[in-house]
Amino acid sequence: MANKFVFDFFDENSTIEQVGIKGMNLNRMTALGLPVPSGFTISSEVTKKFFNEERLPDSVLSEIWRGLKDVESQFGAGFGDFDKPLLLAVRVSPSARMKGLSRAILNVGINDEIASSIVKNSKSKTFAWEIYRRFILDYSVTVGRVKEDKLLETEKEIRKNYAEYADEDVLQKIIDEWKLMFKKSTGQVFPQDIKTQLINAISACIKSWNSEKSKNYRVRNNISDDVGCAIVVQAMVFGNYNTSSGVGNAHSRNLTTGENEIEGVYLRKEQDSCMLELKHTFTLEQMKDVMKPTYLIIEDILKNLENENKDVMSINYCLQDEKLWVISMWEAEQTPEARARSVTEMAINQIITKKQAISLVDSKSLQYLMQPKFKKVDENSIKEMGKGRSAFPGCACGRLALSVDKAIEFNYNDEPVVLVVKDVTALDAEGLSVINGLVTLSGDGMLSYASMYSKSKGLPCVVNCKGLSINKAEHMLKCGGLTVAEGEYVSMNAGTGKVYYGKLEVDTPQVLNSVGTLVGWALTENKIPVYADADSYPQILRGYEMQARGVGLVRTENMFFAKNRIKYLQQFLLSSSDKIKENALDKLSDEQVKEYVKIFAASVGKVVNIRLIDTLLHKMLPSNKQELNELAIKLGISNEELKADYTNFIQSDPQMGMRGCRLLVLYPELIDMQVGAICDAMYIVNKKTKQMPRVNIIVPLVSMVAELEYVAKEMKATIRFNENKYEVDFGIKIGCMLETPRSCLCADLLASHCEFLCIGANDLTELTFGISRDDCAKFLNVYYEDSLMYSNPFVALDINGVAELIEVAVSRARMKKPNIPIWMFGDQNTNPVAIELALKTNINFLSCAPIKIPSVILAQAQAKIKNEKKNTD
Ligand code: PEP
Ligand code: MG
Repeated sequence: MANKFVFDFFDENSTIEQVGIKGMNLNRMTALGLPVPSGFTISSEVTKKFFNEERLPDSVLSEIWRGLKDVESQFGAGFGDFDKPLLLAVRVSPSARMKGLSRAILNVGINDEIASSIVKNSKSKTFAWEIYRRFILDYSVTVGRVKEDKLLETEKEIRKNYAEYADEDVLQKIIDEWKLMFKKSTGQVFPQDIKTQLINAISACIKSWNSEKSKNYRVRNNISDDVGCAIVVQAMVFGNYNTSSGVGNAHSRNLTTGENEIEGVYLRKEQDSCMLELKHTFTLEQMKDVMKPTYLIIEDILKNLENENKDVMSINYCLQDEKLWVISMWEAEQTPEARARSVTEMAINQIITKKQAISLVDSKSLQYLMQPKFKKVDENSIKEMGKGRSAFPGCACGRLALSVDKAIEFNYNDEPVVLVVKDVTALDAEGLSVINGLVTLSGDGMLSYASMYSKSKGLPCVVNCKGLSINKAEHMLKCGGLTVAEGEYVSMNAGTGKVYYGKLEVDTPQVLNSVGTLVGWALTENKIPVYADADSYPQILRGYEMQARGVGLVRTENMFFAKNRIKYLQQFLLSSSDKIKENALDKLSDEQVKEYVKIFAASVGKVVNIRLIDTLLHKMLPSNKQELNELAIKLGISNEELKADYTNFIQSDPQMGMRGCRLLVLYPELIDMQVGAICDAMYIVNKKTKQMPRVNIIVPLVSMVAELEYVAKEMKATIRFNENKYEVDFGIKIGCMLETPRSCLCADLLASHCEFLCIGANDLTELTFGISRDDCAKFLNVYYEDSLMYSNPFVALDINGVAELIEVAVSRARMKKPNIPIWMFGDQNTNPVAIELALKTNINFLSCAPIKIPSVILAQAQAKIKNEKKNTD
């Protein structure tokens, strides 16, 4: 049988690949007996034919004319008929959600004669001209490629110049002027032949499949060009027909709160529900009072659609002379809060299964729900200072710091801080780790270090903030006439990008009930337990609140950034005096013990993985001789006490330099101090709780067995020493990071020298690509623009290179030691690609920032459900 190209809405056998999402939804609504205006869908197969032949083939055209005949008889109107003219809407219907395609072309099939006959037959003087105007607008923009803003400017002029004329005369003037503009722009007369109108409208919609915008969208979103685009042709109904007519949209549940009550709008005597600012707008709530029967029908339709589609649904509807029509339906777009609430309630009420509820929520959105919020929404009562782009949402209020040093100083006094600076770099990381909110003025935008940092840590952050200027010398922030001194309180809502002068109280939300329920269901589908990356007591508590099974990664270097600790580390590194060094290590040890006691006490019975210090030294020490000298003086180190080779700390490439296990090999005292502090704290907590903390220690940035052996030997000696001293068995396990390509390739050898392995996808990405996560923004921006790359490998795990190395590492390690536990770290862990890889390679544990734990739990459950579905389909 020859291929079929045109499907009517009653067709039960057409597939989404053939008729697209819109076409499929129209078929479903028609099958449910809903009042859908008749129409047909031209198959996406036709897209390919169109581009091959550069026109609609005759075989397709003859099916279109046949389809049109059916619509005429179903709808009781004729295309080109003067008494009962059938007008058509032409819309694109891709089979994947897409942007960049043509807009709808409404009212196809009207010309001068038909418009005049509608005037004669209708009670309204303006109705015919309104719909003719709308058709000329849509057609000129999509088919004629006339600039819409030029057309609308002209309309505005005419309306101004002929303000005292009757509406119908003004509309006719607009129509005449637009036809002239069409001719001037295209060289052709505006078509009066309605078949030509229809063919050209369909062709324009198909052509939009190959527009730059839609091609780019497909590339960025991994949608194949082969998908093609179907075209829906549907009979028009008119919300502007008379005062008993209107249009609107409606949703089966509240889009903002998720409450189980329909919501929406109704625009009386209008044709387009996009024009929401228009005068005759009512909420469905108001409709319930004055047009109850219509309200009840809409409610019934929405509930029916929700039950059928097993999702919260939205519709576009039209009321023509009191008769209700449903034009289209789609899955509702709700706020993350609303989504979580709606789907859990739907599952509890058995409209959907728990697995379906899990699959219906965007896993990433959960992290935004956990962000701090203003207690009361009284943002209007406070002075707005500036506005920028939201890099990561959340609210913050704190003392204004105009430098990282000031931020650290305020934090030292336990005060909340909002840091406002031109820009930040990786060198500012210690300051960033202590602030509550970050505002940058630089125009670098979404790929800046500030943006990347805030995303990975969940820090409320506004970038590219306009309206503010910093006077560093006077420690002032200026905004118009207002001057704010450093240290005064400012507030920010990074969701809206707004920065305010003054205090707004901030609340860190508890996990919402619905999110808790959903995460609880997802946990039952999880194979890999999720742990928290946390290096302070509050972060660890937050991790447990988010259902962390333990602490996956304590990055100890972050503990040393506090001002009272960093100076001791600096002293240790710069001084040649044994006394100063010993004193510095003692002080560091005391501080570490205090922190670990809190961490272990909060984690009784749970595993805590502690990674020995892995800092980039240039974050702790300046990078030139003069500043190093100055710092030494500040730290009370005399010239004689200064280490002879201290200039070794000046490194041309700190990222590749003295860091990770290399620093530990150079300074074994640092191993003893850290491991000793861990043992001391374990002993204290064991005494208090009668339970020995479960601690694993990780050696960072290892590439060779010899490095691991060297550090592990020193560690074991310190552990043994402390076990003898305290007469206990600490049971500490030693593992190493796999975060250099060499370590992945040698994972079998490393596995045989330790008890567990940890994949560090952040460094592995840096070292595999040879790019730094701290300053890749500059060229990644250009790579995106030039389509060399479509996603940031520090956000979405690189499938071809980095993931391959991880697979090699896991399989080699398991070949040698089948049961060795393997952890996966890295900021990519929230990304589905990383989660799928973890499931595929049987990774034992995942770890991520506390704020991201619910997302990872959900994403993992979604990946499992998707795989199950794939296997049963
Ligand atoms: C990693 O490299 O993936 C890792 C977890 O370590 P860090 O991010 O601290 O370098
Ligand atoms: Mg690392």
